[in-house]
Amino acid sequence: MLTREKLLEKLKKTVLKTQIIIEAFEDVDRADFVLPEHKKNAYIDEPLPILAEQTISQPTTVAIMTEILKPAIGMKILEVGTGSGYQTAILAEVVGKKGKIYTLERIPELFEFAKKNLEEYENIENFYGNGVDGFPSWAPYDRIIVTADATEVSDYLLYQLKPEGILIIPVNGELMKIEKTEWGDKKETPMGNFSFVPLVKD
Ligand code: SAH
Repeated sequence: MLTREKLLEKLKKTVLKTQIIIEAFEDVDRADFVLPEHKKNAYIDEPLPILAEQTISQPTTVAIMTEILKPAIGMKILEVGTGSGYQTAILAEVVGKKGKIYTLERIPELFEFAKKNLEEYENIENFYGNGVDGFPSWAPYDRIIVTADATEVSDYLLYQLKPEGILIIPVNGELMKIEKTEWGDKKETPMGNFSFVPLVKD
């Protein structure tokens, strides 16, 4: 499983279902988001080390999270935990020029790394900071995605989500999909176990 084509083929057979998301995976090259020494392994379906003991997620995990999040053209999305920026780029491709991705990273080296990896995207705003309680400045969001493992779901994240919006967040190793109804109630659905680096509180 070493070529870009083979990886895409696998993702299409297994998890990718939505045409606009498939196109985003075709447009974004994972090799642009890994460290030079890992470029030869960029298309292996595994997480890889990036800087500061963090990892770029496994492609299958990024594909599953993107399908569950249901992004669409024109949406405004908050991402907590930019990491390499790979997931950010996929979302930016889906929402297009009329949409916007606001992404937060708490580790300075990674904030810089991702900002550079994403410099060609005009619909991405990179921020350095802690997103455990979201990012009120640009709320409300159509979608919120947290890419690190939380111990609980902050109420602030839900406040920052639009009615009929979707929040996905791993909680104690289990990926949770939280839908906000038209009336502001929440519906939680567990989506399976994944391993993520911890969401840091301070
Ligand atoms: N999807 C990313 C993986 C991100 S790993 C990729 O494929 O590259 C999770 C990231 O969340 C790490 O970079 C970590 O530093 C960051 N993170 C952890 N806690 C955070 C917090 N409270 N606020 C912002 N970023 C956080």
